[in-house]
Amino acid sequence: MLEITKENIEKAIEKARITKPKVKVLEFRRYAVTNKTTGANYEVSFTKIGGKKFADCTCPATKICYHIGASIGAHIVLAEQMHTATA
Ligand SMILES: [Zn+2]
Repeated sequence: MLEITKENIEKAIEKARITKPKVKVLEFRRYAVTNKTTGANYEVSFTKIGGKKFADCTCPATKICYHIGASIGAHIVLAEQMHTATA
């Protein structure tokens, strides 16, 4: 599990903006991210523990990757729609 920080998520979101992967909501906090170029498909999940945010991705990266960056945009919107403070 990787901790999300302001720094690493900003980089991941930036990379996602360039890569523009397709994000599909599987359920709240779980997303499928597909690279449109390679067709590679990974699953991202978010967890909140003690006020800290964590993310997991099934890709081989060992840091906050662009799949997580792409998912968090959808995640924040969804969390707001559900009126929860647990984004
Ligand atoms: Zn990834």
